[in-house]
Amino acid sequence: CGIVGYAGPKSAVDVVVDGLRRLEYRGYDSAGVCVVADGHLSVAKRAGKLANLEKELAEHPLPVSGLAIGHTRWATHGGPTDTNAHPHLSANGRVAVVHNGIIENFAQLRSELAEVGITPVSQTDTEIAAQLLGLEVEKGAGLSEALRAVCNRLEGAFTLVAVDAEQPDTVAAARRNSPLVVGVGDGENFVASDVAAFIEHTREAIELGQDQVVTITPSTVTVQTFAGEPATVRPYHVDWDL
Ligand code: GLU
Repeated sequence: CGIVGYAGPKSAVDVVVDGLRRLEYRGYDSAGVCVVADGHLSVAKRAGKLANLEKELAEHPLPVSGLAIGHTRWATHGGPTDTNAHPHLSANGRVAVVHNGIIENFAQLRSELAEVGITPVSQTDTEIAAQLLGLEVEKGAGLSEALRAVCNRLEGAFTLVAVDAEQPDTVAAARRNSPLVVGVGDGENFVASDVAAFIEHTREAIELGQDQVVTITPSTVTVQTFAGEPATVRPYHVDWDL
């Protein structure tokens, strides 16, 4: 439902949770966040209000990191439980994924995963994308290349945002039939489902087109089509007040 990703010098967990709070008006049933630190992914996620996630983060703080992704979920596949909350991890621990929308061919893709011995731990369509992405990065693909390969196999509506434990300065995001905007900051960059998530940090935005993937680091923003071609982007200035 609500998505935020951050790469920059600030405490990424704080930036992402603040951003999720600004998207709360959309309604949700669970919330979660993942950081990349010291070559590992660390996740906190809870069913219920953002306050439940914040309590968990206060009791068990995540490692300090400048890279994080977060999500507020509106369940479509699998009930609103801690396990079904996003982010979802791949079995090899390499990638974490948050997702808005519905992956319509997830049942077929889940059978393919079963053939290579991967059993999902959640009931979500989202985890199927996370598991496929884990297999792609394991083959040696960079995160955005891996995400393009996965997106080309998905049907339905999705905004997907992903991190890789082995690429600690990169967040990759993709969209089809579901919104995704980039916030371009000074030494920091954002991805979100809505500009409201980052407007207190930057008002320079790029709206992603259909079937495009964006890769952000603290200092770069790169947009490509799902075919891997450079994409035409539409930067704009957000001049309205919230
Ligand atoms: N289909 C996904 C799920 O049920 C994402 C739902 C959403 O857009 O929040 O977990």
